[in-house]
Amino acid sequence: MDIAGLYELQKIDLNMDKARRRVAQIRRKLEEPEELKQARAAVATLRSELERLHARQIDAELNSRQLAERIQESERRLMSGEVRNARELEALQSSIESMKRQRAQVEEVAIESMQQREAHQRQLADQEATLAHLENTWSAQKATLEEEETKYKRFYAQLKQQRQRLSERLSADALSLYAQLVERKAGVAVAAVQNGACSACNMALPTGVVSHARTAAGTPVFCPSCGRILFAA
Ligand SMILES: [Zn+2]
Repeated sequence: MDIAGLYELQKIDLNMDKARRRVAQIRRKLEEPEELKQARAAVATLRSELERLHARQIDAELNSRQLAERIQESERRLMSGEVRNARELEALQSSIESMKRQRAQVEEVAIESMQQREAHQRQLADQEATLAHLENTWSAQKATLEEEETKYKRFYAQLKQQRQRLSERLSADALSLYAQLVERKAGVAVAAVQNGACSACNMALPTGVVSHARTAAGTPVFCPSCGRILFAA
C-alpha cells in the first residue's frame, strides 16, 4: 500500500476542504451590506418625497394663478357698473374676498412646499454623497472578494485534477481504507509523524511504532492512540 501516496491524498483533500470553506465564506461576504441597502432606500424615499412636494407646489401655483384670474375678472365686473343690484354687488364683493382668502392659503402651501423641497434637497445631497461613498467602498471590497473567489475556484480545480491523477495510481484497497478512515476520523485518515508524535492527535508515539512506520514498506501502521494511518518521512 502506498502510504506516501495516501498522505499526499490527505493533503489534497484538506486543501480542497479549505478552498471550499473559503469560497463559502466569500459568498457570504458578497451579500450586499445592510448599511448600503439602507442608504439606497433612504435616497429613494427622499426622491419620491421630493417629487410629491414638487407636485404639491405646482398644484398650488396653478390654483393661485387660476384664482388670480377669477379675482381679476370679478373685480373688473365690480368696477364696470354692469352689476347694479345692491344684493348682487354685495355677493360679488364677498365672493372676491373669499377668493382672495383662498388664494392666500394656496400661496402659503406653495411657499411651504418650496421651502420643504429645499430642505429635502439638502438632505438628499447629503444622503447621495453617503450612498456614493458606501457604493465605492463596497464595489472595491466586492472586486477583491471576487478576485479571491476566482483564485480559490482555480485552486480547487487544480486540486481536483491532482486528486484524480493520484487516485488512479493508488490501489483499490488503499483507497477503500482511506475512505473508511476519513469517514470515521473527522476527515483525517493519515497523520504524519512529527517529533515522535502523531500530528493528528498529538500523542507521543512509542519508538517501536515510529520505526515500524518508517520501515514497514507498504503495510499501514496505525497510531495506537487515534487509529489513523501513520506516515513517517
Ligand atoms: Zn494519533
